[in-house]
Amino acid sequence: MNVTYDPLYLFIAGEWIAAGNRDTAAVINPADGSVLGRVPLATSADLDRALATASSVATTWRESFPDVRAAILRRAGALIRERAPQIARSLTLEEGKPLTEALDEVNRAGEYFEWFAEEARRIDGRVVPSNRPGVQQLVKRQAIGPVAAFTPWNFPAITPARKLAAALAAGCPVIIKPGEESPATALALARALDDAGLPKGVLQVVFGVPDMVSSHLIASSVIRKVTFTGSVPVGRLLSSRAAEGVKPITLELGGHGPVLVFDDADVEAAAVGGVANRFRGTGQVCISSTRFLVQRGVYDRFVQRFVAATAKLSVGNGLVDGIQVGPLANHRQLEKMEQLVADAVERGARVLAGGKRMQGPGYFFAPTVLADVPVEARVMQEEPFGPIAIICPFDTMDEALTEANRLPYGLSAYAFTRSARTAIDVGDRLDAGMIGINQYRIIATELPFGGMKESGHGSEGGTEGIGYYLTNKFISQA
Ligand code: NAD
Repeated sequence: MNVTYDPLYLFIAGEWIAAGNRDTAAVINPADGSVLGRVPLATSADLDRALATASSVATTWRESFPDVRAAILRRAGALIRERAPQIARSLTLEEGKPLTEALDEVNRAGEYFEWFAEEARRIDGRVVPSNRPGVQQLVKRQAIGPVAAFTPWNFPAITPARKLAAALAAGCPVIIKPGEESPATALALARALDDAGLPKGVLQVVFGVPDMVSSHLIASSVIRKVTFTGSVPVGRLLSSRAAEGVKPITLELGGHGPVLVFDDADVEAAAVGGVANRFRGTGQVCISSTRFLVQRGVYDRFVQRFVAATAKLSVGNGLVDGIQVGPLANHRQLEKMEQLVADAVERGARVLAGGKRMQGPGYFFAPTVLADVPVEARVMQEEPFGPIAIICPFDTMDEALTEANRLPYGLSAYAFTRSARTAIDVGDRLDAGMIGINQYRIIATELPFGGMKESGHGSEGGTEGIGYYLTNKFISQA
């Protein structure tokens, strides 16, 4: 098996900088525990240099022609697609997901650059009639200024792409700190932008000790906007840091996606599609369907189909053909899965599949189905972020909606029903930013990706996405 892994750099002021005598962190292949490479950790001086560079290019990039920004983003999108097989291989090595999923993710990352290339050309304003004679009132939208972006390890292509494409299209320079666990993928995106002609310094990539990097960047007066994808506690911390400098922040945090399966649903589609959705990315997906709430009349049939489909999943190294579920990201996650299962069982849940780690090297946990899980169980409160599916029965729609909306999360939710009335009601009443009715694969470039409640605020993608990198200004001229 070809395990060539890209060399790792910092990308500051247009230079690809190797570790030299900086500290480094090991990048581990989660499928076998081997060390793939070492990522350089930025020093304070590196971050200061990146900030000075972002400041120096901010005006020219903001004032660049929309067509120029669009052409660069389009070219970058095309390069990412062209290089997708190679980038996907690095992604699988460092993150673990099956190669087909990695390839899909990289291609969709390319698509975000293409979408936002066009959005760059549509940043318009308004002329507002004045109530005073001879006065002309213009409302303009301008790039907000340099952005500090923080992305996690689980979607190392698409999460940076959503942030970078919108910010760069708006005319903002970006300093991004991708997850240190899967750095090569984000560097490949940066390489494509560099090769596509992005002016030096407009995009910079740093890695480091996360808390040191975020506190340093967010505290700087150069940074005018913060965006973060990750867990609720870290989102809360970065939010308070941004508040110190009165900076807007976009947050895409965790979720605990409910799925309401009604008696009149296509049970086969809900169950078989639910297995694919729940165990995709080894369950380390913020919009994953986690709590399956099934109406009593179809409960047994749903459970039986769900468990049968789970048993057929092939688990292993994502580079091997036919593998559907890869490893967890790290050892910590393995231990967390064990604790969640043990706690649920102690409180009376039934384990219908999996429930334990798998033999051999790597961080593998068997796809797990827990049925009849009491609401007090930890797994009913905390986002599992791993391969555990929860199935519980309900009797009435009100009861299902109360359970679905019970948690502080509000990211994704799903419902299966053949009734148009039920579909409209649950669509209106579910507290979630993204809702799938009779389907699981709902995310698209042209739709706003984002949550509500503690799952965060702000949208990435769609026509909404670019607005978070723009600021309003009016000019009233007599
Ligand atoms: P985490 O929040 O500790 O880390 C997520 C990302 O944030 C990582 O890339 C990490 O480097 C970065 N990070 C951590 N502390 C930071 C700081 N002080 N400043 C800046 N960046 C920081 O989560 P984790 O332990 O890697 O993953 C576990 C949990 O995170 C999951 O249970 C899940 O809830 C959440 N998570 C959510 C998403 C998502 O897509 N919303 C992605 C990854 C993780």
